[in-house]
Amino acid sequence: MGNRCEQCNKWVSLETQDLEITSVEVSGTAVTFDCRSVRNCQECSMEMKALDINEEVELELDKFDGFSNLGGKKQEQLREAWDAEQLEIEVTEDGGSTDESGGGRYKKNILTTTVEFTAKFSWEGLDFTYSSNFSCEHAASEYDDV
Ligand SMILES: [Zn+2]
Repeated sequence: MGNRCEQCNKWVSLETQDLEITSVEVSGTAVTFDCRSVRNCQECSMEMKALDINEEVELELDKFDGFSNLGGKKQEQLREAWDAEQLEIEVTEDGGSTDESGGGRYKKNILTTTVEFTAKFSWEGLDFTYSSNFSCEHAASEYDDV
């Protein structure tokens, strides 16, 4: 599968750019990440292919640091507040990247995008934190022409 650059007027290799994370939105206990992955002509750096990635991650209360240290009664109370979506969860992205070597040896042209993030909330004066990441794979052919 080749990519022809109009500017260079020949077939070229593509270079995957740093992942742009355009928005992080929290709705209840789910987070939606909007990202844009761009691939440029390796020779003249013209944008040639782009893919918008929308990924939803469901947060889980028991993965937050601090939850397991609570007593049983407190855990129950916090679980109720969590289920009722009464907690104000803040999520920040800690950067993302797209790796061209995904898919394994026999599955070429798969790009793996990984985004690191941290989720936080406070409850009754205590802070709870969860750091994690998600990964998703896309075929190079899913990228649209720019
Ligand atoms: Zn070019």
